[in-house]
Amino acid sequence: MDHTKINLIVRLQHIDNRIESIMSLQKGLPEEISALEEDIAFTARQIEARKKIADDHQKLREKLNGTIFDCKEKIRSFKEKQTLARNNKEYDALSKQIEYEEKEIAQAEIQLQDISHTEHHALELQKKGRDLIAENRYDEISEEMMPDDVLQQQVEDLSEQVKLKKDELESIVIETSEEITQLRGRLSGQRSVVTQEAKRLLDKYDHLRSGSMQNVVVKLHRQACSGCNTRVPTNRHTLIVQGGFYVCESCGRIVVHERLFDEASSADLS
Ligand SMILES: [Zn+2]
Repeated sequence: MDHTKINLIVRLQHIDNRIESIMSLQKGLPEEISALEEDIAFTARQIEARKKIADDHQKLREKLNGTIFDCKEKIRSFKEKQTLARNNKEYDALSKQIEYEEKEIAQAEIQLQDISHTEHHALELQKKGRDLIAENRYDEISEEMMPDDVLQQQVEDLSEQVKLKKDELESIVIETSEEITQLRGRLSGQRSVVTQEAKRLLDKYDHLRSGSMQNVVVKLHRQACSGCNTRVPTNRHTLIVQGGFYVCESCGRIVVHERLFDEASSADLS
């Protein structure tokens, strides 16, 4: 049996392991950062939605106040004209117009009251939220109960956390970038060698790694596959000791003698 092929794939696993161990120094920071950023975006959208409602209310309020002002002006001028009315018919016509404007004012005032009522209700909900926060009853707080200032504070706190984590990640990336670049170079070199010499093994390797499995090639440890701890049949030990490999029946990993990893490791130094 040709054992060179398995040596090539062990070397590939060895390089991938080294990259993996350096990447693990990032301690899940990239994932934590993106989760925090999602939280920030969510809270920011809530703030934005409230701001839009407040702006809409303000615009409508201005418009309605404008309407009321105009109507009052008209009424004032109609009343002036009434004092100059030459007959009842003219006077009554002006009365009708005044009546119409008064209805307009009443309608605008109802709408203004509706806005105030809505705003008051929103503030009441926030007050309730504040009380629940004070009592640590967070699970009873609905989205709209969250007080404006608490939302704002949340965004600031989350942004601060993201900044710290990004700084931490960046320093790790800077510290390890040279080694990672070097290892990635070696990895691609090794992959092209394996592609030429042991394409089928490489396909198997890539196929297994495409799942969540990182360690496809593992050592025989205490007569078992060190990937899943399933015992390797005794009649396969000799082959493994001789430098061959065994495909674990339980997890599908490629089990080799640890000596092969030592060889791959010493190749780093050469
Ligand atoms: Zn296994």
